[in-house]
Amino acid sequence: MLDLTYETPKPKVIAGATGDWELVIGLEVHAQVASNAKLFSGASTEFGAEPNSNVAFVDAAMPGMLPVINEGCVALAVKTGLGLKAEINLKSAFDRKNYFYPDLPQGYQISQLYHPIVGEGEVLVDMGPGVARKVRIERIHLEQDAGKSIHDMDPHMSFVDLNRTGVALMEIVSRPDIRGPEEAAAYVGKLRQILRYLGTCDGNMQNGNLRADVNVSVCRPGDYEKYQETQDFSHLGTRCEIKNMNSMRFIQQAIEYEARRQIAILEDGGSVDQETRLYDPDKGETRSMRSKEEAHDYRYFPCPDLLPLEIEQGWVDDIAASLPELPDAKKARFVSDYGMTEYDAGVLTADVENATFFEAVAEGRDGKLAANWVINELFGRLKKADLDIEDSPVTASQLGGIIELIGKGDISGKIAKDLFEIVWTEGGDPAEIVEARGMKQVTDTGAIEAAVDQVIADNPEQVEKAKANPKLAGWFVGQVMKATGGKANPKAVNELVSAKLGL
Ligand code: ADP
Ligand code: MG
Repeated sequence: MLDLTYETPKPKVIAGATGDWELVIGLEVHAQVASNAKLFSGASTEFGAEPNSNVAFVDAAMPGMLPVINEGCVALAVKTGLGLKAEINLKSAFDRKNYFYPDLPQGYQISQLYHPIVGEGEVLVDMGPGVARKVRIERIHLEQDAGKSIHDMDPHMSFVDLNRTGVALMEIVSRPDIRGPEEAAAYVGKLRQILRYLGTCDGNMQNGNLRADVNVSVCRPGDYEKYQETQDFSHLGTRCEIKNMNSMRFIQQAIEYEARRQIAILEDGGSVDQETRLYDPDKGETRSMRSKEEAHDYRYFPCPDLLPLEIEQGWVDDIAASLPELPDAKKARFVSDYGMTEYDAGVLTADVENATFFEAVAEGRDGKLAANWVINELFGRLKKADLDIEDSPVTASQLGGIIELIGKGDISGKIAKDLFEIVWTEGGDPAEIVEARGMKQVTDTGAIEAAVDQVIADNPEQVEKAKANPKLAGWFVGQVMKATGGKANPKAVNELVSAKLGL
C-alpha cells in the first residue's frame, strides 16, 4: 500500500492586543452504537418511534430489574477501537455515575470511568491534499444514553420520553491535539467517516447519533509544544467544555467564539473559569451552564449489577480479521492503482458507497477516465437531481459501458455526454443505444477528409488567416465537428486539418 506522507498543519493563531494566542481543543464524541437493541435490554433503538414505546422494564428502572450486557454492542465497540488503531482492553468494567435528572429513571448512568474497553488510538485528520494532523484518542468507553425531557409541549408541564434511555453510546475521547475550528470539524468528519465505514455508528448528526462535547482553551505560541514534550497539562490554558454539539458548522462557530471570549478575559488580566457552557446558535455565543463549583459530584462506584467485562483475544482477533478496508487505506490504494490525484481519491472515498460504485465502474477499464466521469458527470448530475448514489438512475455497469465506448474510440467525449443523458432518462444498454441511434464516432478518414475539404473550400479567407496564425486551426476543427454532428474522431480531424492547411 502506498503510504501517503503528510505535513502537519499550522495551528490557528488569533492576534490579541498583548500578542498571539493559539487554540487547543479536545473532543468527547458520543457515537450511538449501530445496534437494534439497547446496551442492557432488548428494547428497540428505532428512531422516531412513538414516545415511551421502546422501553424495557430495566430501562424504566423498575424495582428488581437487572441489566444484561448486549454482546453485539461490545463487539461494535471493539471493532471501533480496532478501526482507530487502538488498544483493546480484554478486561473492562462498568461504573455507576450518579446524578438526578427527570430523564434518568435509574438515578445513575452506567458508564466505564476507571476501566474503559478501548485505550489509546489515533485519527489522521485530513486538512487538504498532503496535509493532515494526527489526533490521539485517549479512550473509548461504553455507556448508556439518557432519555429526553420535552419542555415545549405544554405551558405548565414537562414530559419525558424514555425511548433513548439505555441506548448504547461509545464515548470517544480525544487528547487535546486539535488546533483550530476547521480541524475540529474535520476531526468529527473523519471520525464519522471511519465509523460509517466500520458500520459501528450511522453517524446521523441530525438525529443526535453523533454529538460532541467540545473542550477549548487558549495558550501562547510554544506552550503546546511544551505540553507535547512533557504531557504536563499545566502548560495549557484552563479549558471550558461546550456541551452537546451536533452540527459541524456550530462546532466551528462555538470554538471561534469561545476562544475569543477567553482571550478577552485573559488580556483584561482576568482568568478563565473551568466550566461547562452551552452554545446558542441564534445569538452565536456560548453561555455558562454550570461552573466547576456547582459541578456534579457523580460519586462513581463500580456497578454492582454487572460483572467486569472479560473478552478473549481470539474473539478480538476474529473481529480484527473482519475489518473492512478503511478510508485512508482505500484512498492510498486509489491513488496508486488508478493513478488519480489524492484530491479525487478523497472525493471518491468520502463515502464507502461512492467508493464501491466507482470501483464497479473502473473494474477492467481506464481508472482515470472512470474517476473523471464518476466525479464530474455522475456526482454533478446526482447533486442536481438531489439523489444519493444508491438511487442513481445510471448504474455502475451502465456507466462502465459508456466509459468502454469512449476508451475504444467508438464515441467522443461530447457524444458520451449525450449518451449519459439518454441512459439517465431512458435507461438501456449504452452500446446498443449507440448502435441503434447511429451515434458512433466517424473514424473513417475518407469521410472526415471530405468534410475537412469542404470546410476549407468554403472558407478561403479563414484559410489565409490560419496559415499566418496556426492557432486558428481550431476553428476548422470546430466546423468539421459541427458538420459531422459531433461524431468525427477529434484526433483524426485535428491531424487532417493541420495536414491540409500545411501547418
Ligand atoms: P473530564 O472527564 O473532566 O471532562 P477529561 O480529562 O476526560 O476530563 O478531558 C475531557 C476532554 O478535555 C478531553 O478530550 C481532553 O483532551 C480535553 N482537554 C483536557 N485539557 C484540555 C485543555 N487544556 N484544552 C483543551 N482541551 C482539553
Ligand atoms: Mg468530560
